Parts: sequence; C-alpha cells; structure tokens
Amino acid sequence: MSFFKLSCLVIKAIDQIRRNFLWGGNPQYYRGKNLVKWENVCKDKRAGGLEIIDMHNFNQSLLSKWIWKTLDRESLISKVIFSIYSSNDSNPISNPQERWKPILRRGISEEDKRDITHLLLHIDQVMPSPIMHDSVQWPFNSTNTFTVKSFYSLLNNGGTVSPLHNFIWYSPVPLKVKIFFWILSKKKLQTKDNLHKKGWGGDPSCPFCNQDIEAHDHLFIPCSFSSAVWSIIFPSSNLSHCPKEVSSMISDKDKFLDNLNQRMLWRVLFPCHCWCIWSSPNNLIFNNTLITPLSIVSNADRFTLFWTGAYSSRKAHCLHRAAVEFGLQDMAKANEGEVLGENFA
Ligand SMILES: [Zn+2]
Repeated sequence: MSFFKLSCLVIKAIDQIRRNFLWGGNPQYYRGKNLVKWENVCKDKRAGGLEIIDMHNFNQSLLSKWIWKTLDRESLISKVIFSIYSSNDSNPISNPQERWKPILRRGISEEDKRDITHLLLHIDQVMPSPIMHDSVQWPFNSTNTFTVKSFYSLLNNGGTVSPLHNFIWYSPVPLKVKIFFWILSKKKLQTKDNLHKKGWGGDPSCPFCNQDIEAHDHLFIPCSFSSAVWSIIFPSSNLSHCPKEVSSMISDKDKFLDNLNQRMLWRVLFPCHCWCIWSSPNNLIFNNTLITPLSIVSNADRFTLFWTGAYSSRKAHCLHRAAVEFGLQDMAKANEGEVLGENFA
C-alpha cells in the first residue's frame, strides 16, 4: 500500500470481508445487517466512527508521503527524481527561473493530461522569493511535518468531532455496551420502525406501552415505561425538563441532574439503563418474563456497580464510590431474586 495504488476492485473485495466480519452472522443473512454506513464506521472515534481503517484513504495517505520525501533534497528519491526530470538538478522550489516541465516517457490518458495541466497551472501561481530559502510546511500537526496519520485523519474525518465521543468511549462499561450505545446514538438499532423499513411485516407497536411505534425517539425516553424507570432513578429531579432525545440526555444533563455525583454517574448509569431497557423486551417476548421498571433499575444498578468496581482506574474507583453513596446498592437489592438472564462479561 506504500508503493502502489490499490484498485477499486481490491478495496471493494477487502471491505466486503471486513464488513461481514464486523456485523457477523450467517453469510446467508448478511444483507441488511450492516447497521451503520461503512464510511461512518471507518471514521475516527472522535468523528463518530469505530476507527476501522478506510483502505482508500489510507492508501492515498501512504502514497502521499512520497511527495513529501521528494521535497527533501537530501533524500534518495528526491535525488533520483530531480536527476531525471530537472536539467541542471536545481530545485524548482527555491529557483524562480526553473519551472517544472514534466518529461513523459509513456503515453498517458486525457484525464492524466488534464490533471498535470491543472497541477502546473496551480504551481505557476506561486512565485518563490529569489532572496529567501523556501520551506514547505505541513499545517495539520504541531511539528509542521507531514505524517501519514495527520493526512489520513484529514482525509477521513474532515475535521468533524462527535459531541458524544467522550461519553461513549471513556465510560467504564464493557465494549459491547459501548458499541450498543454507539449504534443507539446513530439511531440504527434494530427497532421495529427500522425493521419495517427493511421489509419486516410484524406489529410495530412498542412492547412496553402498546401506544406508539417502537422507535429510538420513543423507546428509551418518552415511553411511559421508560419514564417510570427514569423517575425511580431520579425521584427528586424535575423530569418535565428531561429531554426527549438520547443525544440531549447527554448534552443537556445539567438541566435535570441535581449534583456532581449524579452527573459523574450519568456516563455509566445512562448507557446501563438503555442497555437494560433494550435487552428486556427479549425476555418479555421470548421468555414471557414479567418486566417492571423496578426490575430494570435494579438490574442496571447491579451492572453499574459491577462494571465500575471491576475497573482499576482511578476514575472508575471514583465512579464506584459515587454509585455506592448514591444508594445504587439499595436499589440493586430492591428486586433481588429476579434476574434478567444477562451475563456480566
Ligand atoms: Zn412505549
């Protein structure tokens, strides 16, 4: 990948294998299982993706390093190129009398000719100073030196930053819950309204309240069942100020959380409760197990206590202490005996 441009067919074939590996399952049912667009999956986590390498952009970044190397007059590739394409081996960058004149040793396509003409026009607009040494700087990192990483990040992310990045990826919940919450933040879970878009013909109503369609914007917050869950966790909070969207539950948390401990715990409690709310209809549908808001809260609190206690980092210890002080142990015991069949791994 450092020397040759990958063909679109090769990239497509490799991406197909990687997509199937990521979303998994029976090869017969791959179709429709890619929950998030591949181009979004390939973005950095800071930009809202999963940081899976984008083959095309990575290939371009690696090849671009050679351009930077040609600008270093001491590098071998620079000496070779200037000895072939520059008549007196002067550096066109520092000598205004010398212009680039590409010597083509093979036939090229009309598209390549247009690209070269466009490039030369672009270069000719720059007139180097005869009294100063020119230098080339790369403005996209702190050292002003080209790096493959900085160029790849520029190509791949375009400078976008996801507001949920810290909340999702720095929470001490297990990776499977982080991935779940990442898909939830993109509104791409297999909710019934999303399944309908893919041709599923079942009943789309919410399994908890039967009063609305099961959709992201309903299931986790406005649903009467979920509202009852949040009321148990924050009985003193003013839930009328509670946002109705998942992203707002993170960005506007100061409006409905009363103190610092609550705000600190929210980064574990919120994903845990969403995870338990999402998992529980399976028990209702497949095991016919009665689910109550109290059972959701007590199970989510057990997860919170376990996951924060299982991590050795200082931040996780602080979160665990805050969870104990907040009384999650009491809530976890409130419905002891009823287990949702979840494992803690
Ligand atoms: Zn509902």
